[in-house]
Amino acid sequence: MSRLLEVSDLAVAFGDVRAVRGVSFTVEAGESLAIVGESGSGKSLSSLAVLGLLPPQARVVAGDIRWDGHDLLACGDEELRQLRGEELAIIFQDPLSALNPSLTVGYQIGEMFRRRRGLSREEARNRAVEAMAEVGIPDAAARAGNYPHEFSGGMRQRVMIAMALALEPRLLIADEPTTALDVTVQAQILRLLRQRQEAGLAVIIISHDLGVVARTAQSVVVMYAGRAVESGTVADLYSAPAHPYTRGLMAASPSARDADRTIRPIDGYPPDITSPPSGCAFHPRCPFAQGRCRTDEPELRTIAPGRKSACHFAEEVLSRGESLGAARA
Ligand code: SF4
Ligand code: MG
Repeated sequence: MSRLLEVSDLAVAFGDVRAVRGVSFTVEAGESLAIVGESGSGKSLSSLAVLGLLPPQARVVAGDIRWDGHDLLACGDEELRQLRGEELAIIFQDPLSALNPSLTVGYQIGEMFRRRRGLSREEARNRAVEAMAEVGIPDAAARAGNYPHEFSGGMRQRVMIAMALALEPRLLIADEPTTALDVTVQAQILRLLRQRQEAGLAVIIISHDLGVVARTAQSVVVMYAGRAVESGTVADLYSAPAHPYTRGLMAASPSARDADRTIRPIDGYPPDITSPPSGCAFHPRCPFAQGRCRTDEPELRTIAPGRKSACHFAEEVLSRGESLGAARA
């Protein structure tokens, strides 16, 4: 049986600059995958490529994207547009910019049912209210008559989710869906995504925060400077990261740490992808870097069943477990 979504060895370039390379992942129905990294790591580009929504200057230069066995890269614009409405959906960090400020929320959700399903105005309105109720918007019938600015940030994100799920897609990509929200609301939105996933939706959640991911996803791809540097199950990565960057992300995540531990940001900044560092791109920031890290680029390799790491010293990092972090603290 083919996978629902299968991305293999994806590369995305802006002119001569490879912003993403060698990225592979799969997602099944009812499964949730997280793509994690700092801004500029290529995590959003990887998922936009799946939807055929790359910025105009960017293009896929290598790799394969298969949706339910079909070659997505061979699809024409019209076919992709059709798929985006029916099977693939995306929500972004800032719902306000994605909503029309001058139309009521009920109208905007209803419009999807009118355009795509040919429903009457009244039927569409009823379906919009149902869609809003399903994502936990209280008093949906009355709220459907409100404008986007009349909703709180969390409720607005629910509206976006209602809109994205209205036509019952099979995959939802959530790009930093909770970044602008406070912790309580964030937890509610993540719970909502989790429920949908348990009901059979495939979910890709994109985040810079490994803690957010832990509560939502089963598997993770960690990206750095356009490459996947570690992948595996959330449980494995959490119990013992096999890449120093993952370890750093964990220490830097407000929600991945025990309350009594301090948040320790990773030293330095992500590299400029137009001139990435030699060898391992993480070496200037890596507390475990050694001579060879400056010259040899590590391959992403299997280090245990279901786990991959692109660190020369992955086994060592893995076996030393928490003591590595403790030794530094
Ligand atoms: Fe650090 Fe070297 Fe591993 Fe890169 S290869 S993450 S620099 S130890
Ligand atoms: Mg992004």
